[in-house]
Amino acid sequence: MSNSAVIGYSARAMGETLERMAYEPPALGELDVRVAITHCGVCYTDIQAIDDYYDITNYPFVPGHEIVGFVTESGSSVTALKAGDRVGIGWQGRSCGKCEWCLKGEEHLCIKIAHAGVWEPYGGFSSSVIVDSRFAYLLPEGMPAETAAVLMCAGITVYSALRRYSTSTRQNLAVVGMGGLGHLAVQFARRMNYDVTVISGSPEKRAEALAYGANDFMVSQPDILEENEFAFDLLLCTIHGDLDPVPLMDTLKKNGRFILVGFPDLSLNTRDLVSHQVSITGSFIGSRAVMREMLDFAQAHEITPKVELMPMSKVNEALQRVKDNKARYRIVLTSDQIQFFPGRS
Ligand SMILES: [Zn+2]
Ligand SMILES: [Zn+2]
Repeated sequence: MSNSAVIGYSARAMGETLERMAYEPPALGELDVRVAITHCGVCYTDIQAIDDYYDITNYPFVPGHEIVGFVTESGSSVTALKAGDRVGIGWQGRSCGKCEWCLKGEEHLCIKIAHAGVWEPYGGFSSSVIVDSRFAYLLPEGMPAETAAVLMCAGITVYSALRRYSTSTRQNLAVVGMGGLGHLAVQFARRMNYDVTVISGSPEKRAEALAYGANDFMVSQPDILEENEFAFDLLLCTIHGDLDPVPLMDTLKKNGRFILVGFPDLSLNTRDLVSHQVSITGSFIGSRAVMREMLDFAQAHEITPKVELMPMSKVNEALQRVKDNKARYRIVLTSDQIQFFPGRS
């Protein structure tokens, strides 16, 4: 193993605890950049991928896809980035560039998306990654690294959905779940054309939800949801795990929309879905253009995720905190490796 070995934290097999692993830096393609990582956020998707929930994980698997770092090397055809540039990288690390979705600028829907993750070959819980330079985003000057990291997945995920369904008429939006995604969704939505209610199972989050700009807060109890029948135009559902969508969907107006941005397991009752003409839709990260727009929007409106910083060597502890729903609201790992650009963060 050479001195330039990458140090990452990998799961050797499905569901395993991450272990420190040294590996040769992957070869750089002509459009790729190599990025020395200073920060990487922890997303629930990392946990699901360690468990191969999506059926796309290759082991050993280095998770991590909310990356901030500095370009150290670029491929021969890269013109937009150079060594020393500070960039953010989200889940998508490349795209085919040829399918109908790539051609119309919706690269996040690329038909080859299953293998377009920055996880391949190895992700961001490491000292460096390679990525197609077109999926490494120059960060706004002065944006804190931990803010940028969280925006690269949690931020784009909620921003993209909120932007898609925003209209010139003011709408009633409920953000379901007040965690990493939810607390960002509130901040973005209140600066768009929405009245925002947070629906959460944790009554103690009321004050914070209102402080982030929510107009109202509701505990997700069946009787309370029932009292709010037909209250909302849209529900943005940010939660994972088992979910009974029926009481939530009854808070939607006729023609309302139930937007999933997490990956919950749910079973449907079609009676109200059909008779209320409710739509259920997914929303997945966002295109490159929307990513750039989101970064500018976040900078202009001072969107500020609440972040706990932890050293990358404590990655397993961090994953456990996320699994136990104890992170308030997002954990960002800081690299324990050498600082590549002293004095910058
Ligand atoms: Zn993510
Ligand atoms: Zn494509």
